[in-house]
Amino acid sequence: MQNHKELFYSNLVEYYSKNKEARKPWTHEEMKKISNEIIEAKLTVGSKTNRQYHLLSLYDIIDIKEKLMIIKKRLADDKNAVYITPYEDLFEVLYPIHISAGHGGRDKMMFALKTKHYIPRIVIETFIQSCAICHKKKNFRPVNLVNKSITSKEFSSRGQVGLIDYQSMQDGQYKWLLNYQEDLTKFICLRPLKSKTPAEVAKELLKIFLELGPPSILQNDNDREFVDGIIMELVKLWPDLKHIHEQPLDPQIQKLRSKKYQCT
Ligand SMILES: [Zn+2]
Repeated sequence: MQNHKELFYSNLVEYYSKNKEARKPWTHEEMKKISNEIIEAKLTVGSKTNRQYHLLSLYDIIDIKEKLMIIKKRLADDKNAVYITPYEDLFEVLYPIHISAGHGGRDKMMFALKTKHYIPRIVIETFIQSCAICHKKKNFRPVNLVNKSITSKEFSSRGQVGLIDYQSMQDGQYKWLLNYQEDLTKFICLRPLKSKTPAEVAKELLKIFLELGPPSILQNDNDREFVDGIIMELVKLWPDLKHIHEQPLDPQIQKLRSKKYQCT
């Protein structure tokens, strides 16, 4: 995910440096200034400047938990608020939508975003182009794709756990998003978290396991210690859950850095 984020932003920088006429999404800093301009325009009695008319015809401001947000102008106040997404938050908004749509393409993502966030089409396309998994899918060659050992044949034999960092746009006390994916069905569960401590992750994960059933193998592509910590906490919450042994060093599985355990 980190590589995806870095690649996404470096591709965006490249795009906007080559296409000077394209309007780059506003940064947090720019949004503060524009918010003030919109407020001033709304308060202006009598004749407004062209700039003020322009802003008021496109945008509005709403107060969410004492934070001013710029939204697209609505036809009525009860219509959905479509947030203008700041540049720094683009990845965090796009990532969960992309993942929960099963690495959905541009149209799928635009449809999912439509009623909540405004993000320019080119940004969504850049996001997808920067995704290694989508890139692989695009270059799919059936003859090369024989990797049966990491495809689960049974439900809940394997589950992938990860965290998405929302510290730059936390919602109240929630700063992280737990992302758990069952490997066979690719079914995804998302849970907001206040911290990324193994204890808090394990507590939420346990609720998911009580609904879906625990996987025999819990894995995270990048961080073995993260999974170790979660399993230690899970065993405290559910003492009958037994950690058996580390994943055998099958070269194709080894890299997935898994831990295997089972419920007795
Ligand atoms: Zn993708």
